[in-house]
Amino acid sequence: MRVLVLGAGQLARMMSLAGAPLNLSITAFDVESGKIVHPLTQAHIGDGLENAIAQADVVTAEFEHIPQHVLEVCENSGKFLPGQDAILIGGDRRIEKALLDKAQVKNANYHVIKSKADFHSAIENVGLPMVLKTALGGYDGKGQWRLKDRNDAELIWHEMEACLADSKQAIVAEQFVPFDREVSLVGARNAKGEVAVYPLTENVHTDGVLSLSTPIDDSLLQDKARTMFTAVAETMNYVGVLAIEFFDLDGELLVNELAPRVHNSGHWTQQGAETCQFENHLRAVCGLPLGSTTLVRPTCMINVLGEDTLPDALLALEGCHIHWYGKQKRDGRKMGHINVSAEYSADLDRKLALLANILDKKAFPAMQRFSQE
Ligand code: ATP
Ligand code: MG
Repeated sequence: MRVLVLGAGQLARMMSLAGAPLNLSITAFDVESGKIVHPLTQAHIGDGLENAIAQADVVTAEFEHIPQHVLEVCENSGKFLPGQDAILIGGDRRIEKALLDKAQVKNANYHVIKSKADFHSAIENVGLPMVLKTALGGYDGKGQWRLKDRNDAELIWHEMEACLADSKQAIVAEQFVPFDREVSLVGARNAKGEVAVYPLTENVHTDGVLSLSTPIDDSLLQDKARTMFTAVAETMNYVGVLAIEFFDLDGELLVNELAPRVHNSGHWTQQGAETCQFENHLRAVCGLPLGSTTLVRPTCMINVLGEDTLPDALLALEGCHIHWYGKQKRDGRKMGHINVSAEYSADLDRKLALLANILDKKAFPAMQRFSQE
């Protein structure tokens, strides 16, 4: 089967790698340039979205910030999964919050802001401290403000007002959640309504960007997350891989946000699960049976941010796998990731301690938690 992916970044690249053994051939639509490219080489292989859709059996997406006219053309083809509505939910925090309420899953209290009067109502209704997020276009913690003290409201308002000059934009004010940790659940749902979720993953962020993801073994929390995942996926009639980010507050889960796609916190599944998230996404959208999501070995994923080389010694470490994205180096940019696996969790800790000593301390600050030096 032929699958066209909207977006030509690392997620399309990893779908291509995962699809090849199943004879699923992936082409990518670079939304910025309008070119059809090969997801591995970025070679220009065609022009015209309509043309590419006509040649594909299925159309899917690797990100949610896609122009409306592109979404419409894809939706009208009848080949688009998870479909326009799912992508719109992932790309607009207002629609996302409304969906979470409709699915009756717990999330942080919120208030939508379009004007200064709304901002004052938000302060009254949501309370301080609060997190303010642009409804459209936010990623990696960008487009966010924190308000702790009423005296800072005026200062923040000036910045938000500039964003609101775009009439499509809004700000979603959210109650600040004093979470113990952040976890996410990545899972797949197919057109028959069958759901397969991976183990819940604990995520560590550094300066607002994901730095470490590790599957955790907590059956009580796993059940709660799975129930919430199923409610959300069913409400959306979702087909494909979906990721849900949660705040864990004393064993209670609150949804932070949804990603209607394969997700960075699911990259560990390439080495740690029976079937990786990229293959399962393709299986779901192509109407194939879902693959097992069972954890096969303890694994940790480490993001490589702003670096384009790694010590060769890493490849000599048993269970250590490097995944480069083939991107131009830029400060803080997601350039690749490292998956480290072991037979037992104590062995994984030992390997992570070794890695913490091999990796550059400035480039991998989150690794210091494993260092035994
Ligand atoms: P990404 O694309 O990396 O997932 P994002 O820009 O979509 O990030 P969020 O996930 O909403 O933004 O927020 C980024 C981070 O800010 C969260 O992972 C969390 O650490 C913190 N954060 C967001 N909302 C809240 C909240 N209501 N209370 C406390 N912390 C929050
Ligand atoms: Mg997030």
